[in-house]
Amino acid sequence: MSPILQQLALGRSAVERAAELRQDAQWWARVRSDPASRVLCVRLGAVPLAGDELAFTSPEGLPEAEFGFLGTDNGVNFLVWLTDIAEDDARFDSLDWQSLRNCGAALSARDAGLATTAVALTNWHRAHTHCPRCGSETFITQAGWVRQCPADGSEHYPRTDPAVIVAITDADDRLLLARQKVWQPGHFSIVAGFVEPGETFEAAVVREAHEEVGLNVSDVTYLGSQPWPFPASLMIGCSARSMTSQITVDGEEIEEAAWFSRADMVAACESGAVRLPSKVSIARRLIENWYGGELPHEWSRP
Ligand SMILES: [Zn+2]
Repeated sequence: MSPILQQLALGRSAVERAAELRQDAQWWARVRSDPASRVLCVRLGAVPLAGDELAFTSPEGLPEAEFGFLGTDNGVNFLVWLTDIAEDDARFDSLDWQSLRNCGAALSARDAGLATTAVALTNWHRAHTHCPRCGSETFITQAGWVRQCPADGSEHYPRTDPAVIVAITDADDRLLLARQKVWQPGHFSIVAGFVEPGETFEAAVVREAHEEVGLNVSDVTYLGSQPWPFPASLMIGCSARSMTSQITVDGEEIEEAAWFSRADMVAACESGAVRLPSKVSIARRLIENWYGGELPHEWSRP
């Protein structure tokens, strides 16, 4: 794997998840009431920071039933408080809340992994409070990794939605950059989309390229992946080759798209005509991987 695609900001981790402990109710009762356990809180997808590090709290004073186990590192147990904190909850106003998108690249590997998992797990719990079979309110079990229905006993597990993101090049090794309709003028990235049921990620790449920019691509190659919990994606980074250069944007999702040589892209970024995705995204890393090196932070969209 290319060095640029190793150590993706939100793909890093240093804690042992110790998933085998999650069903041990006695162990969990001890950990979630242990004042030495470190609890990460999440508010609207943001995490609290102290400098460049996560700011943890103690489990004391928080409802025991609402914790999840993130993992263990050097004998310290890390938990997440699974209740997404309301924006107007004044108890947490003094903390320095930063979105994972903004702070993810600056965090240590340990903190990036903890924050990414905490945000993903909290997002899932917030959106899945009731049983999909019978509609009863479910309860949290197995150290935050399962919700169970009290009426029919069914168990429900956190989901991740796979999405492909692809660096498409043409016969001259130019890169396709596209702008979604909902983005500001000048904000460009590469083609992406969710994997549909019954589809491989290679097939999803071929379909998305055809739907969004009218290209028939082949040689789909997996390059790396990164969790992207906004709210629940796993981005599967690929490259693909287009045999033709004629672009036809769908006009629905994609507003404009064009081929860029390396020199074209540098000129467009230097002039301010093009802004690239942020450093925390796999999109940026796939663009840099094609380019052959890191690109200036100043060329990122704000
Ligand atoms: Zn049920």
